[in-house]
Amino acid sequence: MTTKPPPTALEKMGLNTPMALALHLPSRYEDETELFTIEEALGLGRFHSIQTQGVVIRNQVTFRPRRQLLVTIEDDTASLQLRFLNFYPSQQKQMAVGAHVRVRGEIREGYQGPEMVHPTVRAVVPEAPLSASLTPVYPASAGLSQTIIRKAVLKALQDASLKESLAEFLPPKLMAEILPTNDWPPLQDAITYLHQPPADANTQSLLERTHPAWRRVQFEELLAQQISLKRAHAIRRERRAPSFAKGQEKTKSSNKVNLGIEEGLLKVLPFELTGAQTRVWSEIGLDLSNTFPMNRLLQGDVGSGKTVIAALAAARAMDHGYQAAIMAPTEILAEQHYLKMQEWFEPLGVKIAWLSGSLKAKEKKLAQEMIESGEAQLIIGTHALIQDKVSFAKLGLAVIDEQHRFGVRQRLEIQQRVGSELFYCHQLMMSATPIPRTLAMTYYADLDVSVIDELPPGRKPIATKVVKAARRDEVISGLYDWLSKGLQAYWVCPLIEESEVLQLQTAVESFEQLTQALPNFKVGLVHGRLKSKEKAAVMAAFKANEIQLLVATTVIEVGVDVPNAALMVIEHAERFGYAQIHQLRGRVGRGSADSVCILMYAEPLSLAAKERLQTLRETSDGFVIAERDLSLRGPGELLGAKQSGDAMLRFVDLQRDAWLIELAQTAAERLLAEHGDLVERHLERWLGSRTEFLKA
Ligand code: ADP
Ligand code: MG
Repeated sequence: MTTKPPPTALEKMGLNTPMALALHLPSRYEDETELFTIEEALGLGRFHSIQTQGVVIRNQVTFRPRRQLLVTIEDDTASLQLRFLNFYPSQQKQMAVGAHVRVRGEIREGYQGPEMVHPTVRAVVPEAPLSASLTPVYPASAGLSQTIIRKAVLKALQDASLKESLAEFLPPKLMAEILPTNDWPPLQDAITYLHQPPADANTQSLLERTHPAWRRVQFEELLAQQISLKRAHAIRRERRAPSFAKGQEKTKSSNKVNLGIEEGLLKVLPFELTGAQTRVWSEIGLDLSNTFPMNRLLQGDVGSGKTVIAALAAARAMDHGYQAAIMAPTEILAEQHYLKMQEWFEPLGVKIAWLSGSLKAKEKKLAQEMIESGEAQLIIGTHALIQDKVSFAKLGLAVIDEQHRFGVRQRLEIQQRVGSELFYCHQLMMSATPIPRTLAMTYYADLDVSVIDELPPGRKPIATKVVKAARRDEVISGLYDWLSKGLQAYWVCPLIEESEVLQLQTAVESFEQLTQALPNFKVGLVHGRLKSKEKAAVMAAFKANEIQLLVATTVIEVGVDVPNAALMVIEHAERFGYAQIHQLRGRVGRGSADSVCILMYAEPLSLAAKERLQTLRETSDGFVIAERDLSLRGPGELLGAKQSGDAMLRFVDLQRDAWLIELAQTAAERLLAEHGDLVERHLERWLGSRTEFLKA
């Protein structure tokens, strides 16, 4: 018996075929084709990497401010300091005084003049040849050196199988009609070029990935993605779902099921739907009347009123004798929905089941029985609804609030067998995180999108102020005046990602300080470690104005709704991302009072944080904020933590390459219509086994 050898570092990265290696394209290049004197380097090497060489004249380990290695090299023209904050003894030896080294890095202004921090160093004779092509730098992992990857890629590029794998098979006629230019090289040439660009290549366009060779690769990648998304779309249309057409509701009351819920709900609502709400409700209503499952994202800024739309959709499903489920990512948010739905639906006689992770075993069992027997018409809960494999009697609609927090992997595939047929349930996702159009076109080609682009009437804009933490006392005295007017406020404690314990500790400290500073008012504290009953009790007290100031960790980020609380202070706002602050801030500005959000920050402020706080002060437009966020973090994070990874486009940047998406879309349509035989081949080439995200 032979035992399989453990996977090599290359295999662990999935680089186990010539094709995989060929598509492992450089993330950047190093220019070792040119060599500059030290004097030239000092002038040219700011902001980009440059190569120079010289003799070591000093090699010294210092301990101030921390242990580091300082090396000075010199040539006929000048000298240059190299600084290493981490180093091995072998490096110290390599750069012994008298050694000749070739170094490459950026020149920066250090405390003692210009220097290179952590340059790449090679000990070579002064006349060692320069390389003929730019040196690729590959995405790597621990234990996998550039040298190993470079060797493996070079070998792969010579592999005979590659000719076949990278063969040109997109019809030239179609390409000529669609592509804006004919200077994109054939695929195989493009890939070879990107691995070994000649010394005279346009480095800038290579780095920016706008070079024709990159364009060719990006186009192919997008094409594969568009094809698979269009396919997913077609597959969904072939699935069966119960049709909830308006006017076709069950007319007779059977099994004690109440009917006319939708009409009833519209009557009990204390407000009229806004124009935008009416529009999205009709879009959703139409989807629900189809015999294939709805897959729709309802997008609307914080406070735009998505909940009532979810309730209407649920009512429609219930009127057809089906169950509806509403899920939220956090217990607090799910509870808010539960309370709201009780308020709206219980007068109409609807049976609601509440299911969350923290229920006692007995309560959970009871809820599950109600769900399984069909007695519960509306089911509200957290992720537990998905995770615990609850079996529904007759689920017709699943609403998933703040769906981006669930991530694609947790998206539901609820099906049930009716006779010999499989039925899927309709799905409505809701999100306050606006998804920029480019993103929607790629990740969500099979997701229909409705947008609530209007806030309910009477909302006041939120004035956002950015204040130094040193002025905390002033902020607290302002808070005193505020509360004295009979208004309420939130105090949000800093996010400490590394430690929940620390986060709790600072929250408790702020709570104690504020309790002391504001003796006339009741201060409450809510955080993630509280039991859900305790959380609910605090929230209820805040809602009833028994608590005037609510000190909270980010548990209140989503969904909390207390109109009389129109002031929010966020401590250490510099630690929060765009989306978080936007969501948090959306908790205020819901009542008739002028709303204020105070972003307190501690110095020193990084450039990025400064820009972020400034943007947040200037705009409360969710779309603007989301675009900034996208350019900063990339789509993976915006869509949900775990969603990126294999779902990511590897070579395409959705902002930079937006125009390519449209090209790829056209090409995908034509390929599917005219060259169905080539479609499989193209998908196989680009996606291989990475087909997970196509189910979206
Ligand atoms: P979100 O979209 O952030 O989930 P909610 O559904 O929680 O927003 O709605 C925010 C608040 O606005 C709630 O108090 C809700 O009752 C109220 N609301 C929703 N629609 C309207 C409307 N058409 N007119 C007035 N108030 C509304
Ligand atoms: Mg909401």
